[in-house]
Amino acid sequence: MPIYEYIATDPDSSCRFCFNGFEQVQKMTEPPLSICPECNNKVKKTVSLCRAAVVETSEESTRVAQQLKSYEKEGMYSHAAELADKHSEKTSDSQLKNRAKENYKKAGYQVSD
Ligand SMILES: [Zn+2]
Repeated sequence: MPIYEYIATDPDSSCRFCFNGFEQVQKMTEPPLSICPECNNKVKKTVSLCRAAVVETSEESTRVAQQLKSYEKEGMYSHAAELADKHSEKTSDSQLKNRAKENYKKAGYQVSD
């Protein structure tokens, strides 16, 4: 099933959940959400983030990706960097490695390329 990402249309009256956007697994046949299930404020589907829920990545990668996203959102760049770094070594994911570097830089570390 595809995952859709929704985000509040009016961030001023949104809850924490929809303010940052949330993912919702839905059947193709289901109508898109128009309100946030948490606070009932209007949400919109964000474009281009319709991807299959069954992806090649393992459950762990998905978990790491979600954790990473939340660290980045919270501005916890050193946490994000360490997590991405550790996981990129395990999975030989060069994209993740770059993300780790970016986060190290944001966290104020000196990073050599
Ligand atoms: Zn909400």
